[in-house]
Amino acid sequence: MSIKVVGLTGGIGSGKSAAASHFAALGVDVVDTDVIAHQLTAAGGEAIAPIVAAFGEHVLDGNGAMDRKCMRELVFANPATRQRLEGILHPLIMEQSLQQLANSTAPYAVLVVPLLFESPQYRALVQRTLLVDCDEDLQLQRVQARSGLTAEAVRAIMAAQMSRAQRLALTDDVIDNGGTLAALQLQVEAKHQYYLANLAHGA
Ligand code: ADP
Repeated sequence: MSIKVVGLTGGIGSGKSAAASHFAALGVDVVDTDVIAHQLTAAGGEAIAPIVAAFGEHVLDGNGAMDRKCMRELVFANPATRQRLEGILHPLIMEQSLQQLANSTAPYAVLVVPLLFESPQYRALVQRTLLVDCDEDLQLQRVQARSGLTAEAVRAIMAAQMSRAQRLALTDDVIDNGGTLAALQLQVEAKHQYYLANLAHGA
């Protein structure tokens, strides 16, 4: 692949989507693995048939999309179910990601991967990593405001992810999302200038 790719990551609710949408507004091609996962599991998505074959019709909602709440409960209760679901979704998400990156004509692309540092296959696709960082209380508040999940449910998701300190130690670049959305956008613009100058035309 000749296009240069920045891997954008961060804990749940850190502001990855907010940062990615600003990169997109600046003309960068954004490939978001969460968005791809949603499309694959929406009604008519490519993952629906294998999911029904594996788990049965009862994991679909009335519209024929994967019922995310039902599936979340099933995978929480049973690690084998999680592995089976991931075995269906992961190859499809990777295939779509590669296809979208291959189609990109922007000077560089941003690939959004929540578990970038835990996923060697994705880490190998990116030339540079960019972490969206904020403190854990703020993550919790933002996710709760967005999703209505309980604090316990959000903490359980956070506990299953790498710690903030580990991510900070591993990343090349950081955006501090402890402030306003405007402050986040200014940092995205600064990183964009840096990547245009140092990444897009590099070897
Ligand atoms: P992620 O994609 O990392 O899970 P999001 O970008 O969806 O996180 O952000 C989580 C929630 O917090 C969203 O509702 C988003 O609009 C909000 N948010 C993100 N950054 C800020 C900020 N700097 N100030 C206020 N709200 C924010």
